[in-house]
Amino acid sequence: MPVKTVKGTRDIFYPDIEKWKFFEEKAREILKTYNFKEIITPIFEYTEVFARGIGEDTDIVHKEMYTFKDRKGRSITLRPENTASVVRAYLEHKMYAEGGIKRLFYIGPMFRYERPQKGRYRQFFQLGVEVFGSKNPFIDAETIELVINILEKVGLKGLSVNINSLGCEKCRPVYRENLQKFLKGIKEKLCEDCKRRIDTNPLRVLDCKVPSCKEALKDAPNIQQSLCEDCKEHQAKVFHYLETMGVKYEVEPNLVRGLDYYTRTVFEVVSDNLGSQNAILGGGRYDNLVKEFGGPDTPAFGWALGIDRLVLLLEDKNFDFANKTIYIVPAGNSIDYCFQTAKILRENGLASEVMADSKSLKKALNSVNKQRGRFVLIAGESEREKGIVIFKDMENKTQREIKLENIAKELKDEIDK
Ligand SMILES: [Zn+2]
Ligand SMILES: [Zn+2]
Repeated sequence: MPVKTVKGTRDIFYPDIEKWKFFEEKAREILKTYNFKEIITPIFEYTEVFARGIGEDTDIVHKEMYTFKDRKGRSITLRPENTASVVRAYLEHKMYAEGGIKRLFYIGPMFRYERPQKGRYRQFFQLGVEVFGSKNPFIDAETIELVINILEKVGLKGLSVNINSLGCEKCRPVYRENLQKFLKGIKEKLCEDCKRRIDTNPLRVLDCKVPSCKEALKDAPNIQQSLCEDCKEHQAKVFHYLETMGVKYEVEPNLVRGLDYYTRTVFEVVSDNLGSQNAILGGGRYDNLVKEFGGPDTPAFGWALGIDRLVLLLEDKNFDFANKTIYIVPAGNSIDYCFQTAKILRENGLASEVMADSKSLKKALNSVNKQRGRFVLIAGESEREKGIVIFKDMENKTQREIKLENIAKELKDEIDK
C-alpha cells in the first residue's frame, strides 16, 4: 500500500489552491494599505513559549499541542497559534525600541491535535495580525474594521461583530470573584470541565458550548455591569469608532474567547451563513502579555482567522478556474521552434507548455482535452519555415494562422475575450 497523509492533514492543490491564493493575495494587498508588515516566525519553538503565552489552563496547552524532545532532549512544540511566537520575536529583536505602533501580520500553518471535522484539520492555516504599542481604543476599532474589510473584499456578506470587554486588572478580579460565587451555587448543573474551571478559570465557563451549562448560566453575573470607569470609557470609544467606520456590532456579555491573555476588548466575527457558534475569527486586546513574557509594558491587540474554513465560504462562481494555459504542439523536428514560441508568450505573461512528449497531433489534442485545456498552438517544421503558428481554440472549434511576431498580442486578446 502506498503511504498516505497523516490523519487530520491534507494536500491542497489545483483547482482548490486558486481560492487560497486569491484570499492570500487580497489580504496581503489590503494589509499593506493599513501599513502592516509581514513576519515569518519558525514553525516550532521551545514549548515554554506557548505554555507561557497561551496559559496553562487551556485546552490547547493541556491536550492539543504537538510536543516532542529534540536530539539534545529539549522540549519543542509545533506552534498551535502564532501570537506567542510573534510576542517572543517582538522582544527578541527589541522591536519596541523603534518606537511608534508596530503592526505585524503572519500567514502560515499551525498544529493542534484536535478531532478532525469538516474545515478543521490538525495542520491548519491562519492569517493573523498583532498591533503593539497602543492602548488607544481607535486601534481596537480599526483592527476590527480591517478584518471586516478583508472579508468583504473577498466576497463575504452578512458579517457582524460580537464584542465584549473582559475588564482590566482593577475590575476583572472583582467580577471573577462574583462569578465564582455564583458558579459554586450551581456547580451540580455544570459539566465536568466547567466544574474544574470554577477554581482555575471561571470566565471560561461562560464560553462552554454544553447546552446544560448554557442553561445554568442564564442568571450569571454580567461582566458588562462590573467594568470600572476606565474600561467603560475605553469600550464606549471603541463602539463610537466602530459606528463611525460603519461596522455593525452587538454586545455579547458571555463572549470570553478561549485564551487567558485577553484584557478589555474581545470580539468575534460571525456570518449570517453560519450558526452563531461558528465564528469566522476572533481576537482582542492583550495588554499584559508582553510584560508577562518579561518585556516592557506594551499594550497590544490582535486577531487570527482560520483560512481552511474561510475558503469553504468563498463561492465557486467568484473564481475563474478556467485553464488558460497555451499548449504548444511540435510536428516533425520542431521542438526548438516550440520553445522559441513559448519564450515569447512567457515574456508577455502568458502561461504555456511545450508538449515535448507528444507522439502525434491527435494524441496531443487528446491530452489537452483531458487537462481541460482550451488553447493550442501547432508549431511544426512547416510553420517554422513560414514564420507562423497555427492557433486552435478547442472550445469554439476554430483554427487560424498567426504570425510569430504577433502571437503575444493576439493570444492575449483571445484569452481576455
Ligand atoms: Zn477595568
Ligand atoms: Zn460546561
